[in-house]
Amino acid sequence: MQMVTTELLPVMELELDALGHEMHTLVKELYPICRSITGNGVRETLDKLQRLIHLTVNEVPSGTRVFDWTVPLEWNIQDAYIKNSKGERVIDFQKSNLHVVNYSVPVHKKLGLDELAPHLFSLPDHPDWIPYRTSYYKQDWGFCLTHNQLLDLVEDEYEVCIESSLEKGHLSYGELYLQGESTDEILISAHICHPSLANDNLSGVAVAVFLARQISRLPRRYSYRFLFIPGTIGSITWLSLNQSTAHRIKHGLVLAGVGDAAPLTYKKSRRGNTEIDQVAALAIHEADQTSQVLDFYPYGYDERQYCSPGFNLAVGRLSRSRHGTFPEYHTSADNCDFVKPRSLGESLSVCVKVVSILERNRTYVNTNPMCEPQLGERGLYHSVGGAADSKENEMAMLWVLNLSDGQHSLLKIAELSQLKFDVIARAANKLKEHGLLEEIPVTPQATFV
Ligand SMILES: [Zn+2]
Repeated sequence: MQMVTTELLPVMELELDALGHEMHTLVKELYPICRSITGNGVRETLDKLQRLIHLTVNEVPSGTRVFDWTVPLEWNIQDAYIKNSKGERVIDFQKSNLHVVNYSVPVHKKLGLDELAPHLFSLPDHPDWIPYRTSYYKQDWGFCLTHNQLLDLVEDEYEVCIESSLEKGHLSYGELYLQGESTDEILISAHICHPSLANDNLSGVAVAVFLARQISRLPRRYSYRFLFIPGTIGSITWLSLNQSTAHRIKHGLVLAGVGDAAPLTYKKSRRGNTEIDQVAALAIHEADQTSQVLDFYPYGYDERQYCSPGFNLAVGRLSRSRHGTFPEYHTSADNCDFVKPRSLGESLSVCVKVVSILERNRTYVNTNPMCEPQLGERGLYHSVGGAADSKENEMAMLWVLNLSDGQHSLLKIAELSQLKFDVIARAANKLKEHGLLEEIPVTPQATFV
C-alpha cells in the first residue's frame, strides 16, 4: 500500500484565498434558493452541486418510518404575499424567501390587522432583519418581516396568500462515496435545509464540496462518505436506511457554520476521546491559537443523531460561531456578507489537515527494541530535511523508536513529544523504509458500540 504523504495532501500549498473565493461564489449561487427539509429547493441545490462533484441524489418517500420519526409530506412554494387594500404587496416572498414561515400550509384569504397579527414574526431588537422561522411538524402558516415593516402596517383589510403545497412526495438528499483501500469510512456531513441563510447551511455545504474535490484527486486509505442532508430528519433517515453498515464510519465531521469570521470551534464526539477528537483539536489549534474545543452536548446539528447512544459514532462538529449564540443566527443578516472567503478557506484547510493526519496516523512496533538501533550506520542521522531542522528530525526518530511499542499511535507520539505531526510522520516513514518499524493493524477506538 502506498503511504499517503504530506506531499499528496498539500495542506500548506492550498490556495486559500482562491479557494475561499470559489467557495464564496458557490454560497452566493445557492443563497437565493428556497430550501426546506423537503422539496424542489433541495433538488435544485443538489443539482447545482452535481456539476461540481459526482453526487447521487436519493429520494425517500413521504410516510417512510425512520426510527421514531416519519418522513414528512413534501413542501413546495411558488409565491406568497400580503397585499394591502390598494393591491400593493407590503410583504413579498419574491423579495426574500425568509418572509414565509418555512413549511407554511397554503392560505388565501382577507384579514384585518388583528387577525393577521398572530401570524406575523419580527425581531424588535434588530428592526431591519427578517427572522427565519419554520413549522415542520405543526400545520400552520405565517410571515416573517422586519420590525420596521410590522410597525408600518396600519389598520386595513389585507389579502394574504401563500401559494404552497404540502403533499405526498419525497425527502431528497445527496451522497458521495469515494472508495478507498479500506472499507473503513470517514463521514463528512452538511445540512442543506435552510433557505436564504449563508453561514447556517451553505458554508458547510461549500466546504464539504471543495473537500470532496480535494480528496477525490488523492490516493486514500479510508473510504469517504459525504452527506448533504436536511438537518435532523435527514441524518435520522440516512442512519435508519444504513443501520447495518453505519459501523464502517470510523471518524466523522459535521460541518456547520464554518464561514463567519469568528475563531474555529470543534465540538467533540459523545465518546470524547476518539481519534477524530484528538486530530481535530490538534488541527484547529495549529491553524488558530484562539480556537476552542468543546465537550459534547446533546444539542446542535446532526452530530446529535450520529452520536445518539445506539450509534455512538466518532463524529464531532467543526464550526465557527456557535449556533444560537450570535445575533445574525437564523435571520436575514446571515447573508453572503456574513460569510468570508478567508474563513471558508481556513475551514477547508483545517478539514484537509484533519484528513491528512487521519490518513497517516499509524501504530508501529519497533523491530529493534533492545537498546537504540545504530542510526548513523544506517545513514539516518542528518538524513531528513535540511541541517537547520535535523536536530528536530533526530528527536522525532528517537521519540518514534522509543514509543513504537504497539501502544502509541504517531498522533500520541506527536502529542507527547510536542513535535508537529508532520515531523513525526516523516520520521516514521524514514524508519519504516529502513525496516525499523512494522505497522500493527489496530484501530482500538473505532469499535462500534
Ligand atoms: Zn439553522
